[in-house]
Amino acid sequence: MKPHRILLLPGDGIGPEVTTQARRLLETLAARGEIAFEFEEGLIGGAAVDARGKPLPEETLVAARRADAVLMGAVGGPKWDGAPRAAHPERGLLAIRSGLELYANLRPVRCADALADASSLKPELIRGVDVLIVRELTGGIYFGEPRGIFEEDGERVGINTERYRESEIARICRNALELARLRRGQVVSVDKANVLESSQLWREVAKTVARDYPDVRLTHLYVDNAAMQLVRSPKSFDVMVTSNLFGDILSDIGAQLTGSIGLLPSASLNADGRGLYEPVHGSAPDIAGRGLANPLAAILSAAMMLRHSLGRSDLAERVERAVERALARGIRTADIARPGQDVVSTVRMGQAVAEALY
Ligand code: NAD
Repeated sequence: MKPHRILLLPGDGIGPEVTTQARRLLETLAARGEIAFEFEEGLIGGAAVDARGKPLPEETLVAARRADAVLMGAVGGPKWDGAPRAAHPERGLLAIRSGLELYANLRPVRCADALADASSLKPELIRGVDVLIVRELTGGIYFGEPRGIFEEDGERVGINTERYRESEIARICRNALELARLRRGQVVSVDKANVLESSQLWREVAKTVARDYPDVRLTHLYVDNAAMQLVRSPKSFDVMVTSNLFGDILSDIGAQLTGSIGLLPSASLNADGRGLYEPVHGSAPDIAGRGLANPLAAILSAAMMLRHSLGRSDLAERVERAVERALARGIRTADIARPGQDVVSTVRMGQAVAEALY
């Protein structure tokens, strides 16, 4: 069996703790002969600043380009807050995203039955939610020119530009339509076409591309309505596709639906389907090194890696089911425990998921 080359970038704070547990799951699968891996570890973030003077050393980017997929922990922490801009740990994250041309950000929002009461929404609204938010990550207003703060008529004017090329819209819409084929076959494209020309183009291109996917149902929502529907009836969504700015906001609403940031995985993919997989949460310096971190977001990120970069949806589903079983057995880290419930460590949660893997 040809081994998949995985680059592990544990990063800072709780990053190493949670990626160790994700690796444990992958090694459990490998030990059973289901799949083979070749792991390599690299430096990113504050750990890389300390060791090499910059948050993304060249050797890390080279290793990332060579790997079949990259599994990351998190970067950042108060130690580097005062560092010069170029030595900020978060710059390492931006640099690896652009270095690998990761334009498609996937954020699944799923609610495990056992945790339906942890959400700020009513359990009956949240139980069974399974939404995939697909956000364009390398274009739009975060990158468009002109940008800046300028003097005009004796006062300052702040300018940013929302700018999308047809090809950028088409490729992210194709990602969403393909992904919908693996799910329930429905895509909602989110824009603001009633006000913005860039959104009018977005909608036109989305419709054109969708003609190649007659088996997928494409509908459109204005972003204000989409935000409302996401909290009103999250179960009505399958795949959502949207621009960088709208996706940033909608994915955080999605994150809040499930109740804990420690549960949310993400993937960022490029045109070859290679990707960077990472939990949505940061380095959580307030709990780092104390065995308190929830490793499930990192474990579920590894499951996404199996599905989207390694072509093993079968194993991804098994890992996801193992997570659900561990939760159904009442295993809880502190962030998802109810008052009075027993709490386990990061390592014990990782073990519990590995034990539930069959
Ligand atoms: P954070 O996500 O690190 O933490 C927010 C809160 O959630 C904290 O109370 C933390 O203890 C808790 N939390 C986060 N992950 C958890 C987990 N797995 N289990 C249990 N609890 C968890 O966000 P923050 O505090 O705003 O940022 C801390 C540092 O992380 C900053 O330096 C920030 O820049 C960085 N950051 C990095 C990333 C990334 O690497 N992708 C993302 C966000 C923030």
